[in-house]
Amino acid sequence: MIRESRAAVMYDFNAPLIVETLRLKDPRPDQIVVRVVASGICHTDLSVVRAALPYPPPVVLGHEGAGIVEEVGKAVTHLRPGDHVVLSSIPHCGRCAYCRAGHAHLCDSGLQAAMSGQQVAFEKGGADIAHFCGLGSFATRTLVDACAAVKIDDDIPLNRACLIGCGVITGVGAAINTARIQPGETVAVFGCGGVGVNVIQGATIAGAARILAVDVVDKKLEWAKQFGATEVLNVRGLTGDSASDEIRAKFGDMGVDVAFECIGSPDVIRQAFLSTRRGGKAVIVGVAPFGVEVALPACMLPLEERSLVGSLYGSAFMPRDVPRLLDLYRRGKLKLDELVSREIRLDEVNAGLEALESGGVLRSVIVFE
Ligand SMILES: [Zn+2]
Ligand SMILES: [Zn+2]
Repeated sequence: MIRESRAAVMYDFNAPLIVETLRLKDPRPDQIVVRVVASGICHTDLSVVRAALPYPPPVVLGHEGAGIVEEVGKAVTHLRPGDHVVLSSIPHCGRCAYCRAGHAHLCDSGLQAAMSGQQVAFEKGGADIAHFCGLGSFATRTLVDACAAVKIDDDIPLNRACLIGCGVITGVGAAINTARIQPGETVAVFGCGGVGVNVIQGATIAGAARILAVDVVDKKLEWAKQFGATEVLNVRGLTGDSASDEIRAKFGDMGVDVAFECIGSPDVIRQAFLSTRRGGKAVIVGVAPFGVEVALPACMLPLEERSLVGSLYGSAFMPRDVPRLLDLYRRGKLKLDELVSREIRLDEVNAGLEALESGGVLRSVIVFE
């Protein structure tokens, strides 16, 4: 059977994506064909285009998708054609040591495989084209491993559900799964873009008493308030450690219980760490460019028992977290509608990437016909 897909392909770094018709590969027994209904444009897609993440072209980008299953391979038992699914940008195999230990987000076939560029879903004129994160959701139709798809209820709009697949789970999961925020705790969130606002709403859901949003852009601080920040601090122009000094002063000279860094900057990681109280923790969500190192007062780790932890993909277990998050959405406790700044068509994907780069939008969502 010939399966066609209209997709946005990156052939070169720092060049516009080309929207064209590709041929979909035949599914393996453990794969499914998904008709993509909606896909968010995430900062990580932009990082690939800008060569900050060295993912080899040609590749169909997009990793925040939701759609409807069209075909399932012979070995797939948990999905059927017609099922609505959210795509997980870090799939889990369910069999490796990490999966068995309950760390599905660290699965052997997860991030490393997703970033290898060796997963191929499309071809054009006989040449293979990879799909980013094993998804390639900037396409009307894509091929994914069945373990990357989580079935959801039909009543959830797919142009909202798609956001769970990356930005929402990364942020909300960092607050709930990684940091395990307790009711009444105090929180600071550095960087209030697409991931930061989701950390903020995760902290709200977890019952944090005070949530301080920190950024250098007033517009982002306004977004932060909309998602539950109780106070904001614009640190533009603050140098050295003055941002963390100011934050600790706001919290009775102690600092916060948990600080999140959602930028991937060594200076901001340091400020997040220094903003915590004794016994507090800094959770690093932002991915710094490869090779970058961070400087911290090492004695504070044992003597003040402060900790520094990383959070990948919100420490998610998607079969558990996707239904939970969508239930919160249904009950009005998780904001998804408010995350969508604009809906666009696939041909507008390059404008969508530019809008993200200029900081003008929280999320653009591509909606396919
Ligand atoms: Zn993403
Ligand atoms: Zn695994």
